[in-house]
Amino acid sequence: MSTFPSTPEEFYALRDDRTNRCVTSSDYQRIGCAVYLASNQAATADGQTMLLVAANLLSRWCRRVTIALPSTVAHPELGSGDLGRLVLAQMQDADPFGEFQVVDIESAALSDVALCIGGRPPRAASGTTVFISASGWLAGLSYQQPLAMPMSHPANRLGAVAAACLGVGQIFKMALGMHAELGLREGTFDLSRLEWSNELSLGWPTSTDVGKVLMVGAGSVGSAVAYCARVAGLRGSIDILDRDTIKVENFNRSPIFGHTTFGLTKASAVARFLGESKLWATPIEEWWKEFTERKGRLSIDYDVWLPLANEFNVRHAMQQWVPPLMIHASTGVNWGVNHGRHVPGRDDCLVDRFPAEVSADQLACSTAQVSIANVSVDAALPFASVFAGILITADLVRALLPDYPQVPNFALFDWYGPLDVILKSNRQPRPGCVCLDQGQAFHDRFNAATKYRSSFGF
Ligand SMILES: [Zn+2]
Repeated sequence: MSTFPSTPEEFYALRDDRTNRCVTSSDYQRIGCAVYLASNQAATADGQTMLLVAANLLSRWCRRVTIALPSTVAHPELGSGDLGRLVLAQMQDADPFGEFQVVDIESAALSDVALCIGGRPPRAASGTTVFISASGWLAGLSYQQPLAMPMSHPANRLGAVAAACLGVGQIFKMALGMHAELGLREGTFDLSRLEWSNELSLGWPTSTDVGKVLMVGAGSVGSAVAYCARVAGLRGSIDILDRDTIKVENFNRSPIFGHTTFGLTKASAVARFLGESKLWATPIEEWWKEFTERKGRLSIDYDVWLPLANEFNVRHAMQQWVPPLMIHASTGVNWGVNHGRHVPGRDDCLVDRFPAEVSADQLACSTAQVSIANVSVDAALPFASVFAGILITADLVRALLPDYPQVPNFALFDWYGPLDVILKSNRQPRPGCVCLDQGQAFHDRFNAATKYRSSFGF
């Protein structure tokens, strides 16, 4: 195991490597940000969630962050705990060399850019402020004042996580000096329906028991799923399969990897994080190949698989094992976040979605249009991985609601542009794809008892 970097230069060279693969300028490294939590939001779960997530995301690329709080406020989940101390500890774990401070909102000095949760801060230059707001499934982004949000189910804080992604994503664009036309659009994003709308979003399930989950790959997206699942209060069990260990290069986009988890396996770090959640988490420090060689298919009895490893052959190998419901999301160097869902008998499969792993002669005999997926590479922006995690978590919740699946099986979020258009479609299997041979008889044999069987197309 390598040792932790002892100098800022050494640390940032590793930490920012993956971010630098996505951008053409290093201007983001020099900017100072402030996050303001207005008093009207300070005591709310949505307000505190937005603060915790935004501060976490900022600390993974911004080296100078000031957190401005109205006064010492208690975290509802920590009893008498100090929210400022909690936020600061989380940021210092993500970046031990960062200049992070918590100040009183009245004494906060002017910063280069400001992320505002709730009202306008006492001192903020116009044109440098971004407002975020949240309620239930809804995430708001605006530039002049916070958006008014309808009341929603108090247990649902997923909109708050999405709002933090939107806000920090926009701050990152401003820090890069990107053209205003590429700025994120204002408005209310409904995470339940994956569209810009503040009208009727989906409800919240009476039980958040998602059943038995298999997570394959606990890297940036997998750890973000764990982070969001804990926020959502998901129950059930989750086995976390990954043999890789945590490196500084992972810190830029995972919300839970940091100094204290450096060198641990990703599986054990994610399981440890979930120790404080309502999910029973078990780390499995193996690769997929080792896991399947040790176990027979009939002994792999999970209700839902999360295929989050990005090696192509893993996805292909997983599909060959006749998976039940699968939910995933992936990120790329081009700022895109892809969301995918695969309900057997209804949707396309992993082989359809990631055709790059299929040999050329297999594709040649297909007359269907071959979709070139936004293939995942090992680089992404901080907000992109957490956004991928929230998309997966949202679909796990949707699966507990009536009329699943409520949204198409594919969605593409292009974070490079204003996010005005969210490409959504229902992908179908290619003629001759392996999944078409995995018909009802196969699924009855392997997946008949799984929790989401009733949503299957046969
Ligand atoms: Zn297929």
